[in-house]
Amino acid sequence: MSINSEECFDVVIVGAGFAGLYMLHRLRGLGLTARIYEQGDDVGGTWYWNRYPGARCDAESLAYSFGFSEELEQEWQWSERYSRQPEILQYAKHVAERFDLLRDIHFGCRVNSVEWNEQRRRWSVTTEQGDRVTGQYCIMATGCLSVPQLPAIEGLDSFAGNRYQASQWPHQEVTFSSQRVGIIGTGSSAIQAIPVIAESAGKLTVFQRTPNFSVPAKNNLLNRDWVNQFKSNYRAHRENHQKGIGSGFGDLDIEPLAEAREPILMDSIDSGQAEQLLQAAWTRGGAIFLGAIGDTMMNESTNQFVQKFVHDKIRTIVNDPETATSLCPGNHPIGTRRICVDIDYFETYNRANVRLLDLRKSPISKITATGVETASEFVELDTLVLATGFDAMTGALLGMDIIGQDGVQLRDAWAEGPKSYLGLSVNGFPNLFTITGPGSPSVLSNMLVSIEQHVDWITGCITYMGDNGFTSICADQSAQEQWVGHVNDVANGTLFPKGGSWYLGANVKGKPRVFMPYAAGVGPYREICDQIAEAGYRGFRFSA
Ligand code: NAP
Repeated sequence: MSINSEECFDVVIVGAGFAGLYMLHRLRGLGLTARIYEQGDDVGGTWYWNRYPGARCDAESLAYSFGFSEELEQEWQWSERYSRQPEILQYAKHVAERFDLLRDIHFGCRVNSVEWNEQRRRWSVTTEQGDRVTGQYCIMATGCLSVPQLPAIEGLDSFAGNRYQASQWPHQEVTFSSQRVGIIGTGSSAIQAIPVIAESAGKLTVFQRTPNFSVPAKNNLLNRDWVNQFKSNYRAHRENHQKGIGSGFGDLDIEPLAEAREPILMDSIDSGQAEQLLQAAWTRGGAIFLGAIGDTMMNESTNQFVQKFVHDKIRTIVNDPETATSLCPGNHPIGTRRICVDIDYFETYNRANVRLLDLRKSPISKITATGVETASEFVELDTLVLATGFDAMTGALLGMDIIGQDGVQLRDAWAEGPKSYLGLSVNGFPNLFTITGPGSPSVLSNMLVSIEQHVDWITGCITYMGDNGFTSICADQSAQEQWVGHVNDVANGTLFPKGGSWYLGANVKGKPRVFMPYAAGVGPYREICDQIAEAGYRGFRFSA
C-alpha cells in the first residue's frame, strides 16, 4: 500500500478497554482525530475476555468506575458492592455509547507492528488484518493482564474432555452439572471461580501448587439510600481514592482508620489493638485489609502478625485440619502476591464434592486424554479449567513489534526488564505513551483510578505540546534511569520483592526478574507526575 493511501490520525490507540475508551474521549475533547484498534469484538478489555464463572471486580463498584463525568457517575446504578463481570462489561458498553466512541474503534483487529518514522515524525501502525495507518502519537492501552499464560505441563493438549481457560472463557453458557471437574491454579481468578463451579459440579478437584492469601469480600446488594448518600459526596470520595492511603480501592472506613491522616503503624499499638484493627477490616471486607496496619508491606514482623491472623481464620473456617494446613500460605509475606478477595472460598472446602490436591506434596506429572496424573494418583476428569495467570504488564507490549528511533525494538530495549519514565514513556520511543505501564502504580492500585490519572496526564501533555508548538516528546535517558532506580529503591524498601509473584515476572520462564509496578502508592505518584508537568515536563525532551 502506498504511503499516500494510508489513513492519518493525530493519535492511534491500541486497546478498547477502560483506558482506551477514556483516552479517546479526552482526545476528542482536544479536537484531535483518533482511531482505536481492538483485538476483541467489543469494548471492555479485561472484562470482555475474563468471563469465567464468578468473575467480578475486587475493588468496590463505586470506586471502580469513572469519575470524569459527574452525569455518568450519578446516572449509572451499580447493583452490588463488587460488580460481576457482565455488569462491568455493560458499563463499558454504556460508556462507549454514551460518549459516542464506537465510530472510532476498529474491532477484531490485532496490532502487530508499531514503527516510528523519524523523517515523518509519525508512528506507522499495522494490524494482522492488513490495516495500515499513521499517527503523530501512539498510545498503548493494552492492559496489564491481557496475555494469558498456559502451564507447561506434559500432555496438556492431549486432554480429550472439555478444556477452558479462565481468561479466554467461551461466550456461550458452560455447564458443569454432574461432571468431574478439575481446576489448576489458585490465584484471584480460580479463587473466584472455585466456589461457583463447586455449586453445580458433581465433583471438583482443585490442583493447588501455591496457596494464596484471600480475604472475604463481604459482598452485598447495594442499598439505594447508602448509594445516594455516597454519591452526594462523590468528589470527596474520589479525592480520597486518588490521594488517600488505600491505593484507590475504597474508603478506609473502619475505626479508627477513617479519621487517621497517617497510617497506623504496628509499633504505635499493642497486639490486642492490632487484632481489633484486623478483625474490623476482615469484617468490613475487601483488599483494604492490607492497609489496616500501615507497615504490613514494609515490616517483616508486622507482616507475620497479619499472616498469622489470616492463617487462624483459615483454620477456623476449614473443617478438615489437613486441608486447612494446605490452604495456609507459607512461602511469601501477605500482600507480596496480589491479595485475593473472595466470596466463600475457604468455606467451599467444607463441601463434600470439593477436594484440594496439594501439588507441593504430590506434583502433576502429566495430563492425559482422561485426566491429570500426579506423583501419587490419577484424577479422572470430564472438564479441566486452567486459571494459570498472565504474562503480566509487559506481555501485550512485547507481543507486538514496537520499533522506535534507530530501528530499536522495545523488546531489545527491555531485554533486562522494562525501563520507562513514570511508566508513561520510554526513551528512544518518541510520542509513544503507555497507560498504566510498568514503572507506575498500575496493578497495585484500583486500575480505574490509575487509568484516569494517566489519561488526564497524557491529555495535559499533548495540550502543552500543541500550545508550545512541539511536535514530539521523548523521555530523557537520564530521567528514565533515575526513575527506574527510584522504582527499584521503593520496591526494595518493601517486602514486595519477597513475593516471587507475577509482579516480578516470576511466573513466566525466562522473563527478567524485575519488580515492575511503582509501590509508593497512587497519591505520592500523582504528586510526582503533577510536579513534573508543572516544571515544564521535566525529564522529557521536546522537538518543534
Ligand atoms: P495468578 O494469580 O498468576 O494465578 C495463577 C495460578 O496458576 C497460581 O496459583 C499458579 O501457581 C498456578 N499455576 C500456574 N502454572 C501452574 C502449573 N504449571 N501447575 C500448577 N499450578 C500452576 O493468575 P490469576 O488468578 O489469573 O490472577 C492474575 C491477576 O489478575 C490477579 O493477581 C489480579 O491482579 C487479576 N485478577 C483480578 C480479579 C479481580 O478483580 N477480581 C480477578 C481475577 C484476576 P503458582 O503460584 O505456584 O505459580
